[in-house]
Amino acid sequence: MRTAFSVIFIIAILAMGVCSIIAQRSRRSIGPAVAFLMASFTLPVLGNLLLILYSNELFAWIGYYIYFLGMDVMMFALIRFTFKYCNMTWPYKAVEILINSFFGLDLLQYILNPFLHFSFSIEPIIVDKTVYYRLVPYLGQTFHRFLDYGIFLAIIILFIVKAVRSPRIYRERYTIILIAIILGGISESFYIFSRTPMDISVVGFVVVGMFIFYFSIYYRPMRLLDRMLSDYVSGMGESLFFFDGNKKCVWANDPGRRLLEIEARNYEQVEGKMKAFFQGGEPQSETGEWKIERSVGEGADIRYYVIEKRILSDRKDQLEGYFLSFRDQTEEKKKYLVEKYNATHDHLTGIYTKDYLFERIREKIDAHPDEQYMICYFDVNDFKLVNDVFGNEFGDLVLCRIAKRIESESSEFTLYGRLIGDTFGICVPKSRFNPKHLEDLLSHFVVSEGNRETQITVHIGVYEVKDRNLEIAVMFDRARMALSTIKGDYQTHIAYYDDKMREDVLWAQRITNELPKALEEKQICPYLQPIVGPDGRILGAEALVRWIHPEFGYMPPAKFIPIFEKNGMIADVDKYMWRSACEILSGWKENQKDWFLSINISPKDFFFMDVAAEIKKIAEEYKINPGQLRVEITETVMMTEIEKRIQIINELRNAGFLVEMDDFGSGYSSLNMLKDMPVDIIKIDMAFLTKSTDDVKSKTILKNIVTLSENLGIESLTEGVETKNQYEMLRDMGCRMFQGYYFAKPLPLDEFENYSKAS
Ligand code: C2E
Ligand code: CA
Ligand code: CA
Repeated sequence: MRTAFSVIFIIAILAMGVCSIIAQRSRRSIGPAVAFLMASFTLPVLGNLLLILYSNELFAWIGYYIYFLGMDVMMFALIRFTFKYCNMTWPYKAVEILINSFFGLDLLQYILNPFLHFSFSIEPIIVDKTVYYRLVPYLGQTFHRFLDYGIFLAIIILFIVKAVRSPRIYRERYTIILIAIILGGISESFYIFSRTPMDISVVGFVVVGMFIFYFSIYYRPMRLLDRMLSDYVSGMGESLFFFDGNKKCVWANDPGRRLLEIEARNYEQVEGKMKAFFQGGEPQSETGEWKIERSVGEGADIRYYVIEKRILSDRKDQLEGYFLSFRDQTEEKKKYLVEKYNATHDHLTGIYTKDYLFERIREKIDAHPDEQYMICYFDVNDFKLVNDVFGNEFGDLVLCRIAKRIESESSEFTLYGRLIGDTFGICVPKSRFNPKHLEDLLSHFVVSEGNRETQITVHIGVYEVKDRNLEIAVMFDRARMALSTIKGDYQTHIAYYDDKMREDVLWAQRITNELPKALEEKQICPYLQPIVGPDGRILGAEALVRWIHPEFGYMPPAKFIPIFEKNGMIADVDKYMWRSACEILSGWKENQKDWFLSINISPKDFFFMDVAAEIKKIAEEYKINPGQLRVEITETVMMTEIEKRIQIINELRNAGFLVEMDDFGSGYSSLNMLKDMPVDIIKIDMAFLTKSTDDVKSKTILKNIVTLSENLGIESLTEGVETKNQYEMLRDMGCRMFQGYYFAKPLPLDEFENYSKAS
């Protein structure tokens, strides 16, 4: 008996010791409190061990002391533990002091007991022929018991209050400890009333100790965790379905049950509903896990889900089950779709924006390497005029109608969008490219609203995609380049890009940039081509522009005049030429030379300046006799604003300048013009006549023109005279002035002057 108990007690002490060390080392904040409590449990057991181990009175005394004082330490430790476990502090400092003084008092009475004998005494008894010492309690012992039981009871009450007041899921935490403490209390009471020296109840302490140790250091209440997790998961927006290893649904959260319309917790329904959801079967993947996007429903009711399957396996990679999550991202998706639409569609016309059109064309060209494509650049003619005349609102309407038109006429193979302003881009497979249809698309297209109406025509530049690697923007640049060659042309609607065009454009860009410097540095200068009379004597000269380029050398006007006529810079060139001519004339004036000079006026000049005023101003500046300056104007000048032009010509003539009709016979209505255009001289170009194969006819026409002009009181000058024959023939016809290679080519000023001396 004795040995058996001793062994149990020693094991208990060791066990408590080990628990104490583990608790101390654990990182949990309650660790020290548990460690102290576990250590305190060893004291009563140690006391008891001494009592049963030795049949000696002194050891019995020591044993009892250790036992009782150990009980106090244990209560003290239990208070600390309780406070820590329940997250409490002393409500009043006074209470703490009172309790501690009771412990002090208890300690004092035990210290005084050997002298005053009022706590307890001991008496020997024989059990199984062995002497033990039994406790004889006095008043002091009662105080001790009241103190310890009081505290014990208070702690029990505290735990009960905690258990009742805490949320349901935390109740377990308190009830477990409460039960342990109550069991400990019961076993202790058993000892008190049994009055045997061998306190079996201390074994109960150990059990209670282990219990407390385990629950406060190791145990994580799974029910709590379970509860928390499921509450958390239910509250999530995602729909979740958990399946066991046999693909049976074991749980779904509220959104999940709502999604598949599953009644209460009838997870049996999940399988069927899931099958219906994944018509055509669930997605498959190698790992078994996947993530897809799915939309359900149509129109306004459409909903978008991101569905994910995740496998759940334990640490040994054993399949435990899996779960499916459905994240409803309808709002985000709809927002995204709206944003994407806005970013990729023109806000006015609703068709693709330039950037998006380019992106789509790139994809298309890359995706169909065997298909040839045409890139078309549409430009609405005179759109600015529409805006100016009818207002921007109507202009916007016109653009919308054009977009609609393009949309309705395009097939699924065509990509189209608005480029910028009044320009639209189209990409169409070559096999479906129909230029006639393209032209019809927007020629004779009338937009009307209310009393406003306008006829729309377009110019189309086309680039056939030869180099597929070109950036789409460059392809459109080329189409636009083609378009720029027919801008302002009302006959031609479609122009096709070729490589020469590109070179031309680059050339145009280059010389346009270089012109201001060229004028400043006098790279531009007049060459003079002599004009002679019937006797071969020089009467004057025509000033013809040349550009002596630092890199390209001598450049005839054909290389640059058409370009500057297009971009308006011709006005700068001409003003410069007129000024140069006047400068030369003023030089001749000083040298008593009475030659005249003819200057050329481009029809475009009339758009950029007041031609008459400008010429008068320069002539005055150089103090020129107006009779020395002749002004060459082609009949094309009379194509627009005839009245105004006639006025300008008259203004020049009234100022004393002679006006010549240049290139007579080159146009369709030269003869007709003669009656409207008030000129002094007509300049007939031999080249136009000699082109004809019928020499006799040419001659007849020429003869008649000369006679006609004579009758009208207009002098005639023939240019392009290349042979002696031509010269003599024209002279016989009555022509009075001649110009041509037969006499001289256009010459630099000094050469001209030398030439004049020679002739
Ligand atoms: P244009 O006014 O009809 O000038 C006559 C052109 O015929 C000149 O060419 C001249 O070199 C050329 N020519 C003269 N005699 C003969 C000949 O016997 N046979 C042939 N085949 N050609 C002859 P150029 O100098 O190359 O000028 C070409 C055109 O450039 C001019 O035609 C004129 O329209 C324009 N141009 C020249 N200088 C100016 C200028 O200063 N201002 C403007 N606006 N245009 C100019
Ligand atoms: Ca001329
Ligand atoms: Ca001419």
